[in-house]
Amino acid sequence: MAIRDASSKAERADGPSAGVPLRFGIDLGGSKIEIIALDSAGQERLRRRVATPQGDYQATLAAVAALVDEAERELGARGSVGVGTPGSISRATGLLRGSNSVCLNGQPIRRDLERVLDRAVRITNDANCFALSEATDGAGAGAEVVFGAILGTGVGAGIVVRGQVLDGPNAIAGEWGHNPLPWPRDDERPGRRCFCGQHGCIETFLAGPGIAADHAAHTGARLPAPDIVAAAALGDAACNATLARYEERLARALAHLINILDPDVVVLGGGLSNIDRLYENVPRYWGDYVFSDRVDTRLVRHAYGDSSGVRGAAWLWNT
Ligand SMILES: [Zn+2]
Repeated sequence: MAIRDASSKAERADGPSAGVPLRFGIDLGGSKIEIIALDSAGQERLRRRVATPQGDYQATLAAVAALVDEAERELGARGSVGVGTPGSISRATGLLRGSNSVCLNGQPIRRDLERVLDRAVRITNDANCFALSEATDGAGAGAEVVFGAILGTGVGAGIVVRGQVLDGPNAIAGEWGHNPLPWPRDDERPGRRCFCGQHGCIETFLAGPGIAADHAAHTGARLPAPDIVAAAALGDAACNATLARYEERLARALAHLINILDPDVVVLGGGLSNIDRLYENVPRYWGDYVFSDRVDTRLVRHAYGDSSGVRGAAWLWNT
C-alpha cells in the first residue's frame, strides 16, 4: 500500500540520498498528529504530538506543516517526511479513501502536503508503517519478508519485502482482515456482519470487539477483551476457553496467509498482541493448516509498540 510516485522530481531532489541527515515520521491519526525525528542511525532525536483539528482539512495540513517547521528549527536541519495515516491513496485518482478522519477522504493529501512542506512526501497506510518499522529495526529486523498485523479495535496488516513496503495496483496489499476466516466451523458461519459489508471477516473474529462478542455468545457474559484476558490469567475457565478459540482462529488466519506469502516473520502489534500465550499457542495450532511438513515462520511481538507507526513513517525514506 505504499503511496508514492517514483517519477516525482522533488523526490529525487530532496530524498536522504541527497544528503539529508534527518528523517521525520508523521503519524496522522483521527485524534492526534505525532512527529518523530530519526537521525541517520535510527536514533530518536525529537518527538511531539498535537491534537488533530477536527473536521478541518486545511487546518490539518497546517498542523503537519507547523510540526515539521518547528522540528527543523529546533534540530537545525532539514529532513525527509514520511506520513502514516489510516486509509489508502488510490493510484488511479491520487485521493485518500477509507480514513476514519472523514474530512481527509477524497482529498489529494500527498500533493497538498508536498505543497505546504515544499518537498516530496511519502505516505502510506498506518498498518504498513507498523510493518516497516518492525522490519527495519524492530522485531523483524534482518528478515526478508515480514508480515506485520495489528490486532486492536480492528485488524490491519502490512507486508514488507526486503525493506520495502509491498505496493499494489489497488493499494490494498495486506488487507487480510477483510478476508473470511478460513476453514470455518459450522458455528462460525456466516459469522457476524462486518462494517465492510461482508460477514465473517477475520476482523470480526480477531479484533478486540470480536473476542468480546465471541465470549458473550458462548457464556452470555458481556466483558471487554482486556477483562477476558485478565480473568483467563487468573484461571477463569470460560475466559480461558474464549482465548483458546481466539488462538486457534488466529492460527487458521495466519496459516492461510503463510500458504500464500510464506513470510519469515509475523510481527503482532495492537492491544491484543500483549497476550503472552499467543506466541506459544498459535504456532502450536498453525501447523495443522500450513501446507508444509514444518513451519519455520516466527511469530513475534512488536519491538516498538505504539511508536511503530510514527517510526515506520520515517523509514518510508530508507532508500
Ligand atoms: Zn470486513
